[in-house]
Amino acid sequence: ALNIARTVSGASRLYASLNSAAGASERLFELLDMAPEIADAPGARPLAEPVRGEVAFEDVRFSYDDGRPVLDGVSLHVKPGETIALVGPSGAGKTTLLNLIPRFYDPDKGSIQIDGVDLREATVDSVREAVSLVAQDIELFGVSLAQNIRYGRLDATDDEIERAARAANAHEFIVEAAQGYQTEVGERGVKLSGGQRQRVAIARALLKDPPILLLDEATSALDAESEAAVQEALARLMEGRTTFVIAHRLATVRDADRILVMDAGQIIDEGTHDDLVARGGLYARLAALQFNDAVPLA
Ligand code: ATP
Repeated sequence: ALNIARTVSGASRLYASLNSAAGASERLFELLDMAPEIADAPGARPLAEPVRGEVAFEDVRFSYDDGRPVLDGVSLHVKPGETIALVGPSGAGKTTLLNLIPRFYDPDKGSIQIDGVDLREATVDSVREAVSLVAQDIELFGVSLAQNIRYGRLDATDDEIERAARAANAHEFIVEAAQGYQTEVGERGVKLSGGQRQRVAIARALLKDPPILLLDEATSALDAESEAAVQEALARLMEGRTTFVIAHRLATVRDADRILVMDAGQIIDEGTHDDLVARGGLYARLAALQFNDAVPLA
């Protein structure tokens, strides 16, 4: 179910910008067909520019088709530029919480706001313009590396694409590929590692330059060199943006302004890493087991 959710997310994230893209591949449209349809409400207005990136959940309840609540009574207030780490056992609802921010789904109860505007009163396009999603298993398309980055902003010049790729630590492996930026991704072209795909996604997000960033860290450790390159690129990307990160690294939770601990669809605790470890609850147990850059406790 999780993989389906992520595939759908990747596809719908691109939907707005690709509406106007001429010549996108057929495969792309197949993916877009899977995007959950959220229609603009009558009288919906674009979020006011520039979006500052304040995000609020007010008593949000959400279930997928089977009606079982996956989020229940979730409230949170995030200031522009804040970094929020989400931690919790598998199935706690972390990905689902992230998926509600770009409106891949609407809540059953309660509301979600960006800059104080209920997302149901905003146009879907303007909400998705304000948000980028970066995950290791991000969808890349069977088009050139340059074009994959350009999906961040369709009118970007080749220069802007290269600048974004350099800032994402992707330029070096791109120029080493057979046709450089024109190398096709996928079966007929270059096969990228997880860390490389992630850096392409970071370049795409840098080009888009949104106020809100959603990150899903790799569950498995990347090789050390890729890890360092990805972390450096992410730090650049996060600068000055509201960031929600599903955290799998100790370094990430230590750097976050706040950690939210989720369990069974609820936020059960929040604080800094040191606060939460000192409390000795679910977080302390997860921290000892889950972080893939932590030295295991004896
Ligand atoms: P993980 O750490 O494994 O990624 P998570 O905390 O991100 O887990 P979610 O992926 O949000 O948790 O899943 C919460 C619950 O919702 C799980 O029970 C999951 O099976 C269910 N779920 C997720 N996506 C869907 C979907 N598209 N349709 C139906 N149920 C789903």
